[in-house]
Amino acid sequence: MENETIAAISTPMGEGAIGIVRLSGPKAISIADTVYRGATPLASVASHTIHYGKIIDAKTEQRLEEVMVSVMKAPKTFTKEDVVEVNCHGGVVSIQRILQLLLRQGARLAEPGEFTKRAFLNGRIDLSQAEAVMDLIRAKTDQAMTSAMHQVEGRLANAIETLRQQVLEALAQVEVNIDYPEYDDVEEMTQQTLVTYASQVRTSIDALLTTASQGKILREGLHTAIIGRPNVGKSSLLNSLAHDTRAIVTEVPGTTRDVIEEYVNVRGVPLKLIDTAGIRETEDIVERIGVERSRKVLQEAELILLVINQNEPLTDEEERLFEATKEFNVIVILNKTDLPINADRERIELLAKGRPIVATSLLNEEGLEALEQAIASLFFESGVESGDSTYVSNSRHIALLHEARQAVEDVIQGVESGMPVDIVQIDMQKAWELLGEITGDTVGESLIDQLFSQFCLGK
Ligand code: GDP
Ligand code: ZN
Repeated sequence: MENETIAAISTPMGEGAIGIVRLSGPKAISIADTVYRGATPLASVASHTIHYGKIIDAKTEQRLEEVMVSVMKAPKTFTKEDVVEVNCHGGVVSIQRILQLLLRQGARLAEPGEFTKRAFLNGRIDLSQAEAVMDLIRAKTDQAMTSAMHQVEGRLANAIETLRQQVLEALAQVEVNIDYPEYDDVEEMTQQTLVTYASQVRTSIDALLTTASQGKILREGLHTAIIGRPNVGKSSLLNSLAHDTRAIVTEVPGTTRDVIEEYVNVRGVPLKLIDTAGIRETEDIVERIGVERSRKVLQEAELILLVINQNEPLTDEEERLFEATKEFNVIVILNKTDLPINADRERIELLAKGRPIVATSLLNEEGLEALEQAIASLFFESGVESGDSTYVSNSRHIALLHEARQAVEDVIQGVESGMPVDIVQIDMQKAWELLGEITGDTVGESLIDQLFSQFCLGK
C-alpha cells in the first residue's frame, strides 16, 4: 500500500497565485511524464532540478497549462520517495484539472497528512517533527512559524532524547543492583542514583513546560477581548492595531458571517481578537449578544483591553466592567488624551489594581507604542528569548510531558517512602516510555494513524 504513488494539491486553496500539485511514490516521475511535454522527458533529467513545460491531456494531446516542474529523486526528498511537484499559475481550476489528469494516469489521491506520514514511516522525520509540520501549516504568525520550524529541525526531539538518555542511565544502575543483590550498599547507591536522575529529568521537564503556555499562544493566538462603553474608541483601537500590524483576517468557512476570527500580530505576539464582529457591527458587545454571552466571551479571554474615554467622568458601568474583569489580565486604555481630562485618574488606578494603564489618543495615533510594549511584556514576562528557544506548543506533547513528570515524581516519592527498587523502577520505565511517545519511538500504529489523519490534504 505504501508503494502506491500519491498525489494532492499542496498549497492552501485560494491562497497565493501559484498552486502546486505534488506527487510522491515510485511512479511519480513516470506518471508525470505521461502528461508533461518539455525539452526533455522528466525521466532523463537530473535530480533536484526544475523544468519548464506544458501539461497536456494524454488522451487528446491538447495543451492545457504552462508549468514549472521540479523533480526530486529518492532518497533525498521529504518522503524519501521520488517526488514531483507541478507548479502552475492558473488558479484553482487549473490546479484541480492537473490533479485530475494525474489521478487518471494512475496516481491515487493522497489522504490528509499522507506525505508527512510517509516521511515519518520512511524514517525521514520523527513524530514530533511530523506534528510540527502540521503546526507549520496552521502557524498564524512569523513567530509561530519560527517555533514550528525549530521543532521541524528536531530541537524538541533532541531535548527529549537527552531526557530519555538520563532515564536510561538510571535504569542501567537498577540493572547493576539486580545483578549484585548481595552488596548492601548497592541498593542504597541505586536509590540515590534514581533520585538524582529523576530530579534532573523533572527540572528539565519543568523547563520545557514553562515554554508550553507561550507555545500554545504562538500557535493559537492570545485570546483578546476589547471591551468598553459605546464611543470610547474600541473600533478605533481595533483598526489601529490592525492597521499597524497588518491584520490577517480569517473567515472560518462554514460558519455564519458573524464568526470572524481576526488575528493581529503585536511585536511577535499573535492576538486572536474575540468577537470583533460584535464590536464592528453594534459598537457594544454587551448590547449585541447579551450579558450572559458576553460574560462567556470574557471567560475565554486571556487578555482584556478595557477602553475608557478619559474625557468623560467614570461611569457606574465602567466600575462594573472593572469588577467583572478583576481576575483577568487587563490592560486599561485611557483614550482621547487629546481632549481635556475629566475621568478620575486616582480612582482608575485603584480599580486597575496594579495592572498596566496606557494613555492613548487613537485619533492622533499616539500611545500605540506603549500599548504594544505593554502587550509584549505581558507575554514575554518570563524573559524567554522568543526566536531562539524550544517551544513546546503541541497539546499532545504537553500532556505527555505532564505525565512523564508525574512518573519521575513517583520515582522520587517511592524512594523516599522506602519502596523496593524494583517497584520504583517501574515508574522510571514509564517515564522512558512516555517521553518516547513524544518522538514516536514507543507509539503504536493506531496513534500514528490518528495523528496523521489530522493533517491537511497535500502535506
Ligand atoms: P467605540 O464605540 O468604542 O467602538 O468607539 P469608536 O472607535 O467607534 O469611536 C467613537 C468616536 O470617538 C469616533 O468618532 C472616533 O473618531 C472618536 N475617537 C476615537 N479615539 C479618539 C481619540 O483618541 N480622540 C478623540 N478626540 N476622538 C476619538
Ligand atoms: Zn465602534
